[in-house]
Amino acid sequence: MELYDTLSRTIRTLQPHDGHTFKMYCCGPTVYGRAHIGNFRTFILQDLLRRVLTTSGIQVLHLRNITDVDDKTIRQAIETGQPLKTITDHWTKLFHEDALALNLLPPHIEASAVAHIPQQIDFIRKLLEKKHAYITPDHSVYFRVASFPQYGRLSRLDQRQILTQTLIESDEYQRENAADFALWKARKPEDGPYYWPSPWGEGRPGWHIECSAMACYHLGETIDLHAGGEDLIFPHHENEIAQSECCTGKTFALHWFHTAHLLVEGQKMSKSLGNLYTLEDIKARGYSPNETRYLLLSAHYRQPLNFTWDALHAARCALERLAEFAESIPAPDDLGPQTCSEFGRFTSAWQALQSDLNTPSALGLIFTTLKQIPKPISAPDQQGFVALCRCLGIDPWSQKKSDSNDKLTIPDEVCAIAEKRWQARLQKDWATADKMRQQLLDMGWKVQDDKDRYTLIPITKLVK
Ligand code: AMP
Ligand code: ZN
Repeated sequence: MELYDTLSRTIRTLQPHDGHTFKMYCCGPTVYGRAHIGNFRTFILQDLLRRVLTTSGIQVLHLRNITDVDDKTIRQAIETGQPLKTITDHWTKLFHEDALALNLLPPHIEASAVAHIPQQIDFIRKLLEKKHAYITPDHSVYFRVASFPQYGRLSRLDQRQILTQTLIESDEYQRENAADFALWKARKPEDGPYYWPSPWGEGRPGWHIECSAMACYHLGETIDLHAGGEDLIFPHHENEIAQSECCTGKTFALHWFHTAHLLVEGQKMSKSLGNLYTLEDIKARGYSPNETRYLLLSAHYRQPLNFTWDALHAARCALERLAEFAESIPAPDDLGPQTCSEFGRFTSAWQALQSDLNTPSALGLIFTTLKQIPKPISAPDQQGFVALCRCLGIDPWSQKKSDSNDKLTIPDEVCAIAEKRWQARLQKDWATADKMRQQLLDMGWKVQDDKDRYTLIPITKLVK
């Protein structure tokens, strides 16, 4: 298959460089809050890439890390008074639940940063030995960017831009050069009990080093592909290249795969802007993870995608059309990818996926193909359709028709509030009832009261 590579700015064929297993490293979630559907856009595209490679007959080894020690996770542990592990386990568990609901294949290796401190220390030690790093008076360790002339090649930022960007982001003053970045952060009082011993003193690793150390430890010095959202190009991936190549003397990653952002009203969906939707929010509005996955696959991964409820509704309608076609086809036992699939009439859609993961084209071609298929659907046509659904990881067989209220799933939380509101109303506690009506509206549900009962109507249905 072919895929665009951020470093060379060209579309290149993917092949395992050892002739056997394709090793891909995906930067995973920072577990200090619930992952939002922007994060999942990136993880779904990585999942799709793995599925297309597997379907093409390439064996894949997929590693995704968990960032469970950094400024944000530590801050939350200190502020809530709970152990760091309790915090990160909690968010990791919810991440796993959402990932499963979105039909993401679990990575073969899920590497936790906290569990790899010795490997990170070892990596930093080698960089110090080779004079690519230095220790500051406060016992932190910094990477010496000037020792790696290729720095900036991935992001194509020039020296001046690098300095401006890093100055904005940094509050450290002990560096030789403003572009240098932390490999090891010396213990500070605000870190509480979260520090580890090292040859340079107590502290903790910087963020960038975890990915270099874990990729090298689990996948080897040169990996086939490294992936993340486009915000990671600079500084995270630029720094990873510098550290890794200075440490090993080898090319770090042969291919760089970056996903454009999911936007809300033209701005990146992000935890810091607070404009995010989680899968929970989506389900509260009556939409399913399967519909969310379809929506997130509907745009090309190199184009930003603007999230709207209308777009999610369109995804539902498209899945309903697929469901109609799938009615007479037995549902497969699982929706994982299958090697050596036969695509028959769906070959052009399959080829679109192999060609730089062109999902909008592939989905369009599926609908064109459906129109050409005579009923009853022949065995090869059934097979091709199932193979494509397994490759995309979408499930038309579980798709519910949205045109009748009795098939609508109302989230338990919404039912509970509606019920409490009804009780408040019966007791003539109008203030509470009104407050709960607003609460339900905020969750996407309108309550319609009759003499002795109430009905919940999803807002999305009212605007249609
Ligand atoms: P984080 O949990 O912030 O470390 O992010 C996990 C992954 O999600 C990274 O690969 C990010 O680049 C990616 N990501 C963050 N925000 C978005 C967004 N709005 N759209 C697509 N990917 C995103
Ligand atoms: Zn990373």
